[in-house]
Amino acid sequence: MEKRPFATKDQLEAIAEEYGTPFHLYDEAGIRRNAQAVKEAFAWNPGFREYFAVKATPNPFLMSILQEYGCGFDCSSYTELQLAAAVGARGSDIMFSSNETPFADYALASELGAIVNLDDISHIDFFEQAAGGIPETVSCRFNPGGMFEISNGIMDNPGDSKYGMTTDQLFEAFRILKSKGAQNFGIHAFLCSNTVTNDYYPKLARVLFDLAVRLQQETGAHIAFINLSGGVGVAYTPDQTPNDIYAIGEGVKAAFEEILVPAGMGDVAIFTEMGRFMMAPYGALVTRAIHHKHIYKEYVGVDACAVNLMRPAMYGAYHHITVMGKEDAPCDHVYDVVGGLCENNDKFAIDRALPEIEDGPEGDLLFIHDTGAHGFSMGYSYNGKLKSAEILLKEDGTFQLIRRAETPSDYFATFDCFEPYAHLSQG
Ligand SMILES: *Cc1c(COP(=O)(O)O)cnc(C)c1O
Repeated sequence: MEKRPFATKDQLEAIAEEYGTPFHLYDEAGIRRNAQAVKEAFAWNPGFREYFAVKATPNPFLMSILQEYGCGFDCSSYTELQLAAAVGARGSDIMFSSNETPFADYALASELGAIVNLDDISHIDFFEQAAGGIPETVSCRFNPGGMFEISNGIMDNPGDSKYGMTTDQLFEAFRILKSKGAQNFGIHAFLCSNTVTNDYYPKLARVLFDLAVRLQQETGAHIAFINLSGGVGVAYTPDQTPNDIYAIGEGVKAAFEEILVPAGMGDVAIFTEMGRFMMAPYGALVTRAIHHKHIYKEYVGVDACAVNLMRPAMYGAYHHITVMGKEDAPCDHVYDVVGGLCENNDKFAIDRALPEIEDGPEGDLLFIHDTGAHGFSMGYSYNGKLKSAEILLKEDGTFQLIRRAETPSDYFATFDCFEPYAHLSQG
């Protein structure tokens, strides 16, 4: 499918004039359209809830938009819990799916009344101490081991992943938790990442529904919800067909009616923890081409770097690039589009066919697509590079700053314990 920017060149230049480049831009209309579709796709299940994976895009302005569509929040750390709490989430609005969890994190999750999803059987006592008891509702994360293969050859390797409990441990954990007073149980599994197929959730649902029936029958535990977690992907490349969330919802429904309803478990709620699918296509990294360099290859240097978007450097991930104002120009130049880190993997694109790019202080703006999830949030501060602003393009075409860019004083703030640097941390 052809990839078009969700903003015009004029809009981007107006934002750049006010806030500089680079910046992450989010598309309010797209976020709302998609959140509504997710809600509709699972409306057949009365208890359905999407717990947005906060790590994907931890911004309270965006989280608040999702709340309007009934979303809760999936958190995995102390500060993510604080962020969810800051937008008003409490109790069952929060799913705490962490691993290698610190004591203080469990204590805060418990204080907020979050639903805790235990990653390991050994966490039961640890969590019990932090929470001062086992709550009425609790969830366990499952790892079936082996390979998990979806119909069309898409697969992942749960046997090689650090998450979740084995089948035996899960049964044992349910028995222990039940003996400690838990009454409502959840099962969670995340077996495959960024799946661009409508078959992943339905296939995963079948595995978890079969397991749920056995668990309920053999341990007597009441299964209240099944959490399909994240992993629903987006089409990063133009040749991929985007997932159809309505087809995915129907596929899960068919499995539900086939397995859970006959077992007398038609009251089970379906939960999801999507991050990428909720946000990735509705965010972009906007950066300016500032340099050209011709050595053994042709390079375009931009003012963003892997600090702003790590996925290409970390996973070799493809992100489509549009040269603003040249949407329909022929892609008759081949460039490596690179950032300024002293790291040779800092490349947003390698051997990419693009229209001719003008460089300089007023060079072309590049729109790097699909950065709305695991984009800004994965950033780091190598080379002393600072994090960019985040800006929301509103439905009416105006824009709003939803996180300011870092300044050097933010970078130096943690040296406030060290007198000679105190003046730097004050800006
Ligand atoms: C990362 C993560 C998610 C979200 O994954 P996406 O691929 O962004 O949908 C959901 N749940 C857990 C526990 C995660 O770690």
